[in-house]
Amino acid sequence: MQAQAFLDNLQPPQVPLEVVQAYAEADYGLRGEWRRLDGERDQNFRVRDAEGGAWVFRLCNPQEDIAVFDCQVKALAQIGRTAPALPVPRVRQTRDGAEIGTLVHNGQSHCVIVLSYLPGAPVGATRLAPAQLFEVGQLLARLGKALRGFAHAAPAARHLAWDHRQVPGLLAHVDVLPADQQARARRILRGFASQTLPKLEALRGQIIHGDVHPYNLLIDDGALSGVIDFGDMVYGALVQDLANTIADFLYVGGDNPRILYEITRGYAQVTALEEEELAVLLPLIQTRILMAPLILLLREKGGAATAAYADLAQHAFPLLDEVEALAPRLVDEARRGANFPPLRNAPVPTASELLARRRAIMGERLYMFYDRPVHLVKGDGVWLTAEDGRRYLDCYNNVAHVGHANAYVAEAIHRQARTLNTNTRYLSEQSIAYAERLTATLDPSLTAVVYVNSGSEANDVAWRMAKAWTGKTGGLAMEYAYHGITDAIDPFSPSNDVAHWQAPHLRLLPAPDDYRGPYRRGGNDLARRYADLADPLIANLQASGHGVAAGMVDSAFMTNGIIEVPQGYLAAIVDKIHAAGGLFIADEVQSGFGRMGSHMWGHQHHGVVPDFVTLGKPAGNGHPIGVVITRPEILDHFTRHAPFFSTFGGNNVSCAAGLAVLDVMQAEGLLENAATTGAYFKAELKKLQARHAIIGDVRGSGLALGVELVRDRTTLEPADHETKRIANLMRDEGVFIGTEGVLGNVLKLRPPVVFRPEHADIVVAALDRVLARL
Ligand code: PMP
Repeated sequence: MQAQAFLDNLQPPQVPLEVVQAYAEADYGLRGEWRRLDGERDQNFRVRDAEGGAWVFRLCNPQEDIAVFDCQVKALAQIGRTAPALPVPRVRQTRDGAEIGTLVHNGQSHCVIVLSYLPGAPVGATRLAPAQLFEVGQLLARLGKALRGFAHAAPAARHLAWDHRQVPGLLAHVDVLPADQQARARRILRGFASQTLPKLEALRGQIIHGDVHPYNLLIDDGALSGVIDFGDMVYGALVQDLANTIADFLYVGGDNPRILYEITRGYAQVTALEEEELAVLLPLIQTRILMAPLILLLREKGGAATAAYADLAQHAFPLLDEVEALAPRLVDEARRGANFPPLRNAPVPTASELLARRRAIMGERLYMFYDRPVHLVKGDGVWLTAEDGRRYLDCYNNVAHVGHANAYVAEAIHRQARTLNTNTRYLSEQSIAYAERLTATLDPSLTAVVYVNSGSEANDVAWRMAKAWTGKTGGLAMEYAYHGITDAIDPFSPSNDVAHWQAPHLRLLPAPDDYRGPYRRGGNDLARRYADLADPLIANLQASGHGVAAGMVDSAFMTNGIIEVPQGYLAAIVDKIHAAGGLFIADEVQSGFGRMGSHMWGHQHHGVVPDFVTLGKPAGNGHPIGVVITRPEILDHFTRHAPFFSTFGGNNVSCAAGLAVLDVMQAEGLLENAATTGAYFKAELKKLQARHAIIGDVRGSGLALGVELVRDRTTLEPADHETKRIANLMRDEGVFIGTEGVLGNVLKLRPPVVFRPEHADIVVAALDRVLARL
C-alpha cells in the first residue's frame, strides 16, 4: 500500500467545452444544451438533447486506470439486466456501439462515459424522514443484490483511500489530524486493523458501490430517484456498504439511533443480515467517520484544494463523540433493525430470578420439570444449553424430532415466512403437497386431510367427525390416557386428573400391561384376554344410549408407562369398536413419524387400519401443526352442512415446516435410525437391569422406551419417589429424561430421533452412576 492512494489529489481534466461538444456530436451523435457539473477527479457536464433526454457526459481523469471505467460501465450494465427497476444511470453507447469513448486532446487521451441523467436532486443536507431512511436501506440492499455476482478485476486491485482495507496504511498518517484528536484516532484505527479487519475476510464479500452517501442519492418529490457515482466501487464485505451509508447519514445532534435503525431495518427487509455482520457494523461506521477528515487533511497537505470539505472535517469529531457515547444503544438499534435480540449489557437473568417472575405472571402451579427448573437458551441437535452455559443431552423431547434448531427446517420456515403465509381458503402448493406426502405413507383408504394447530385440536375434530358420521355420542379411551386439553378431549385424558375423572359418555379400557396388569407376560392368549375386557364396557355404552362413536388410542401407550402391548391386542379392540358401529381414532401425536422404529406410524406397528389418524407434536419440529387424516366419505359427510376452517391450520409456513421434517427424515434415514439406535439403547438398558435390582422392566419400541422402577421385583412395589429423584439426578449428570405412568415409576426415554448409539451410551453410563448412588 502506497501513501499515494491517500494523496490521490488528481485534478479534473480541463478540456475546452467546444472540443468536448465537437467530439460528443461526432462519436455519440449527442448535441444540445451543455452545462458544467462538479467533479472531484473527472470533468463532467450535463447535456440536454433535442429529444428531451438528459445525459451526464464524463471526461475521465487520464491518470486513472481505464479498468476502473470499464468496471463502472459493466456494473451498470449488469444492474440494468439483473434489477432493471433500480434507479441507476444507463450507459449511452458511442455510434460504434462502444460503452467507453476516447477523446484525444493535445496528445492526451481521455476516456469518455455518457450516462443517462437521473431526475431529482441529491439528498445532500436534507434531513430524511424515518420512512425515507428505511427506503435508503432498501435501495442499498437491492443494489447489493443486483451486483452480487458481478466480477471484475479492477475493484480488488485498486487502492482506494476510502476503502476500509486501507486502514493499516492510514494509521501512519494520523499525525495530520489536530493534536487532540490523534490518540482517539489511533485507538479506533488500531482496533479496527487488529480486530475488525480480519473478521471482514470471513463475511459475505462482493463488489460493492462503496459510497452511497447523501450526495450520491437523488430524491425527487420526496421519493428516492437514483443512486449515482459508481466510481468508488471496491471489493469488500457487503456490510461495508451499509456501514458507509449509515455513517454518512448520521449527523451531530441528529436522532442517530433512529437513523441507524431505519436504514438497517430497510436493508434487512431486502437482505437478511448475519449476526457476524452486525458485530462489525459499528467499528466500520466509526472508522468511516474518522477516515473522512483524515483523508481530506492528508490531501490538503498534499496540495489538493479541499476547502469544500472543511466543515465535513469539523463535524466528524463531534459526531464520533456522539457515536462513542451511544455505542451500546447503536449496537442494539442495529440488531433491532435486523431483527436480532439486543446484546445484553445486563447479565442474563438467572433461573431463580426468572422463576419468581414466571410465578408472578403465569401462576404458581403451572408444572415445570425438575426441583430446580432449567432455563434453556439454545438447542442444537440432541443438545440443549442452559443460561449458565451447561450443556444437556436431551433424551426426552420428542417435539424437536429431527433435532433442536434443525437448520434445514428453520430455513424452510424462514424462506416461506419471507415469501407468503396465508390460509387454506386460497390454493397453496405446500398444503396440498404436505397432505399428499403424509397420505402416501398411510393405508390407501386414508386420503382426506384436515389441518389444525395442535394434537388436542386434531383429536377434537376427529371426535366431532366420528360423532357426526356415526350419530352416536359415546366413546372409549385407555385408562390414564392423555389426548389433549379441549373441553371435548379432556374427558379422553383421565391422566389430567385421574382422581376426579368422570365422563358419563366415555368408558376406560384397562391398560394391557403385561408387567403389572391382571394378565402377565408368559401367560396365554394375552391379547384376546385384555381385549375382551372391552366387551362389558361397550355393552354398557350401548345400553346407556350413548352407543360407540369412537375409540381413541395412543399407539405408543405413552402415559400408560410406555407399555409393550401384546401383539394383536389393538387389532382386536379396533374390531370390537367397528362391530359396535364406532370408528377408531389412532392418536399418532406421540407414536408417529417413525418414533416406534418399526413403521412410520404406530398403528402400523400394531397392524391396524384406523378411521382417523391424528398428528401433532413432532410434525413441524416445534412449529405448531395438527393434522386429521380420515376417509374421504367421512370428511365429506362432516363438511356437507357446515364448512370447516381453521385460520392457521395448513398455513404455508406450517406446511413448509412439515415438508422439511419429512425431507430430513428421509435424507437422514431417521425411521431406520429410530429402529437401530432404539434397539441398541434398549439392549444397553437391559444390561443395566442385570446390575440394578430397582429396574423391574425395560420396554418400548424404537426411540420410545420405558424403564419401570420397583422396590421389589416380586411385589412390584413402585419406586415412585426414586423415579422422580433419578430424573433430577440425571439432570445433574447433564441428561434430560422424563417420568411416566399412573404410578409415576417409569423413566421415559423419548429423545429426538437423531439420537445415535453414542448418545445412548452417555445416558446409560449416567443412569448407571445415578443408580449406584441411590
Ligand atoms: N395426544 C397425545 C398422545 C399427546 O401426547 C399429546 C400431547 N402430549 C396430545 C394428544 C395433545 O397435543 P397438543 O399438546 O399439541 O395439544
